[in-house]
Amino acid sequence: SLTVTGSINVDHVIRLPQFPRPGETLTGSDYRIVPGGKGANQAVAAVRAGAKTRMVACVGDDAMAGALLDGFAKDGINISAIDTINDVNTGVALIQVNESGENTIALAPGANAALTPEQLQRHISALHCEQLLLQLEIPLPTNLAAARQAKEQGARIILNPAPAQSLPDELLALVDMITPNETEAERLTGIAVADNAGADAAANALHARGIATVIITLGARGVWLSEHGHGRLIPGFTVQAIDTTAAGDTFNGALVAALQQQQALVPAIRFAQAAAAISVTRIGAQTSIPYKADIEAMLEQ
Ligand code: ADP
Repeated sequence: SLTVTGSINVDHVIRLPQFPRPGETLTGSDYRIVPGGKGANQAVAAVRAGAKTRMVACVGDDAMAGALLDGFAKDGINISAIDTINDVNTGVALIQVNESGENTIALAPGANAALTPEQLQRHISALHCEQLLLQLEIPLPTNLAAARQAKEQGARIILNPAPAQSLPDELLALVDMITPNETEAERLTGIAVADNAGADAAANALHARGIATVIITLGARGVWLSEHGHGRLIPGFTVQAIDTTAAGDTFNGALVAALQQQQALVPAIRFAQAAAAISVTRIGAQTSIPYKADIEAMLEQ
C-alpha cells in the first residue's frame, strides 16, 4: 500500500488588520482551528484521490489529537501506525494573516519532532509498503531511516522537499522521485528556477545526485517533468485561484495516489494538477482537498 510519513499539525488561524508589534495586543477576527501539517495534508489528498493510504506519524497526549485522528479515520486513512507520545503537544502552528493576505507562522512541532528512526523502522518493516511519500517537517534522521527501510523492501521513495532546505546526498541517493516547488529546487541546487532553462538545469543537478525522476512544480504554470535528463513542461489547469494553501500537498498526495492505482507518470501528473487546481479554488488546507470524482470531472472538462 501507500505509506505517508510526516507531520500532523493543528493550525490556529486568526485574521488581523496588521501584525502586532512586540508588546502590542491587537484584536483580530475570524479565528479558526484547521487540521494541517504537510504529512497529514498529503495523506488526506492521497486517500481522497482513491488510494489505500496509511500514515506513520506522532501526536501528543492532548485533546486535539483525538479529534484529528477521528477526522483521518473518517477520511479512510489507516491510523494504526500513528503513535501517541506522552508529555508532548500535538504539532501546532499559530498563524496570523494580515489584510493583504500575508502570514506569520509560529510553530511548535511537539510530537512531530519526537518521531524517531526506531519508530519508523518498526512500523515500516511491519508493513507491505509499495510507495513511501516523505516531506521535511519531521527530523532528517527519521526520514533517512524510513527511506532506508522502505527501499530495502523494494518500495518507491517519493520526496516532497518542503519546507525548503538543503539536503545530504545520503537521503537524495535513496529517492526515486522528487517534487520541489521553485523555491525548494533553488535551495537544493543553488540554481534559480526562473524559466524553463532554469528548471532544466536544476532538474539535471538533481539527476546528478542520483534521482531518476524530477518534478518541479511551477504554481499556475504547471510542472517541469524531467526523467533521466529529458525535461519538458506540462501545463496546469487554468482556474480562478482564491487560496493556494496546500496546493503542493494536494498535488503530491494525488500524484502518488494515481501512481498507486497503476496510472502512468504523465496521466498521474495531469490527475495531480487537476486535484491541485481544484484545491486553489477553495479556502483552507484539508478543507480544500478534493475527492476522486471531482478530480475526474475536472479532467473531463
Ligand atoms: P507549492 O504550493 O508547494 O508552492 P506550487 O505553487 O508549485 O506548489 O503548486 C503545486 C501545483 O498546484 C502546481 O504544479 C499546479 O499544478 C497547481 N497550482 C498551484 N497554483 C495554481 C493556480 N493558481 N492555478 C492552477 N493550478 C495551480
